Amino acid sequence: MASRIELISPYGGSLIDLLPSGGEYEELKAHASTLPSIQIDDRRLNDLEMLAMGGFSPLDRFMGEEDYLRVLEEMRLANGMLLPLPVTLPVNDESRLHLDQEIALHSPKNELLAVMTVDEIYSWDLEEAAQKAFGTSDLRHPLVSEMHRWGRLNISGRLQVIDLPRHYDFSDLRLSPVQTRKRLKEMGHSNVVAFQTRNPLHRVHEELTKRAIERIDGTLLLHPVVGMTKPGDVDYFTRVRTYRALASRYYEPDRILLALLPLAMRLAGPREALLHALIRRNYGANHLIVGRDHASPGLDSEGKPFYGPYDAQELVERFSEELGVTPVPFLNMVFLPDEGRYVEASEVPEGAKTATISGTQVREQYLNRGRELPVWFTRSEVAEILKETYPPRHKQGFCVWFTGLSGAGKSTTAEVLTMLLLEAGRQVTVLDGDVVRTHLSRGLGFSKEDRDINIRRIGFVASEIVRHGGVAICAAVSPYRATRNDVRNMVGDEHYIEVFVDTPLEVCEARDTKGMYAKARRGEIKDFTGIDDPYEAPDHAELVINTQNTTPEDNAHLIVEYLLGQGFVRSGE
Ligand code: ADP
Ligand code: ADP
Repeated sequence: MASRIELISPYGGSLIDLLPSGGEYEELKAHASTLPSIQIDDRRLNDLEMLAMGGFSPLDRFMGEEDYLRVLEEMRLANGMLLPLPVTLPVNDESRLHLDQEIALHSPKNELLAVMTVDEIYSWDLEEAAQKAFGTSDLRHPLVSEMHRWGRLNISGRLQVIDLPRHYDFSDLRLSPVQTRKRLKEMGHSNVVAFQTRNPLHRVHEELTKRAIERIDGTLLLHPVVGMTKPGDVDYFTRVRTYRALASRYYEPDRILLALLPLAMRLAGPREALLHALIRRNYGANHLIVGRDHASPGLDSEGKPFYGPYDAQELVERFSEELGVTPVPFLNMVFLPDEGRYVEASEVPEGAKTATISGTQVREQYLNRGRELPVWFTRSEVAEILKETYPPRHKQGFCVWFTGLSGAGKSTTAEVLTMLLLEAGRQVTVLDGDVVRTHLSRGLGFSKEDRDINIRRIGFVASEIVRHGGVAICAAVSPYRATRNDVRNMVGDEHYIEVFVDTPLEVCEARDTKGMYAKARRGEIKDFTGIDDPYEAPDHAELVINTQNTTPEDNAHLIVEYLLGQGFVRSGE
């Protein structure tokens, strides 16, 4: 059931079965460069790749209105074929678009991907889409909240794909549906059970997938999602390394095929499970492991699950004949420490001791604290990989962000703190506003716009330092709350410590170490923070320090105490 999309590319890597017509490719590319163009986002990039490879077959384009409305209503395309979730291309700027026009689609990195002949432009209703596709308008649903940022019009039309997004990573594992089916066929088992995942695999997953292989006497298609998943998930580089280690060492080679799926998840629970089943049918599987809370978006704003725990299994079951995919329940496996083996929860002998470790515990109790994960829980190869990605807290990066008026004592306190942290064995970079303004932000003034640029630059550098496990100590007036919040988001809330140096204006002015307040009062400096430009004090700073009754040394020690409590610094070294 290959897609009807036209693929024209002389190379395109291992992904697609190409129509190798070099001249045609060059021609279309040249033609595309004369067309109006739009840049698609990461979600649409994943969708386009899936459409182009035939992963969403029978769908071969972003949906037109008739398809879209029937999908919302009945999970079917206008022609009656099953398709449980919308796949659309929303746009913002409709003024440049009109019907029967060709437009070039570019990736977020501005690579030319495809030409679309626009034959529909239609508006869509956010509330209706949220309610019908996801069953909720709650903004805690990641897709509902994302949809608020989408353009208000959808466009649709025939696609001529020129190039698929390039993947330079794990290229041997990126298999199209056609390639996957071919490989599965060569493996010689007519039954194939797919396992969909967005998490690292532990022993329990190994046990249940092995049982599924046995049960159907077939092949396991280990099919992790490497497109957009749930925000906060373990990055796919780390995950794929764990899958690869497991697949190559712990399964019969002719019983497992590992392939990566560039799907952008919708986290739509049951409807998404159905989509997963349809996709896997395109990839050659006739069974799919569907678990409790499959494709779950987490909890809603009242702390309740969005979907019932078994809704997904039931929905796939209901359509299994039409789809040709049978759901295999995700067995709830538990470990019996006294016997050293896994059994299904329903087979646990009366009174037997059982052991489990939750995902949160893996992070908080083990990785953050540098404790080894037990071998009954995860293979040592997997534990090693996770340890590299999630070093213990005292090796993770963090940012201490000082904010306060000029002369409040930010630089002075930062200097003491720097020494204490170096003494504790951490690597520290200081980004002091006054200093940054002589290099990174040279030439910027003190208009609101320039100050924001300055703070964002410092924030960007800090976030890179933190990502690589270093300590960034930043000391800038940073007078605007919204900008400080942006920095917090850039760095990541868990690794950002805002310290409000709460020195009253009169005190700063009396200190006037740089003579600037006097100048500002005389009107020689304009827009001076605290005099004729606002300072918005933080509402929720992690720490507030006082510089009138407390010395810089004592304040720096207070901050170190806080960092010790957070585990960012180890005591007694
Ligand atoms: P900022 O970086 O916030 O503009 P600085 O640290 O450059 O401020 O200047 C603060 C001034 O206040 C310095 O001259 C410092 O010696 C003085 N000062 C007096 N008491 C303190 C204190 N407890 N903490 C920090 N600085 C203090
Ligand atoms: P911001 O966070 O506003 O970009 P920085 O910490 O980078 O501020 O720079 C503030 C320093 O620049 C102050 O400590 C002060 O010495 C000097 N300065 C010069 N003009 C101004 C001004 N208009 N407002 C505040 N600080 C100013």
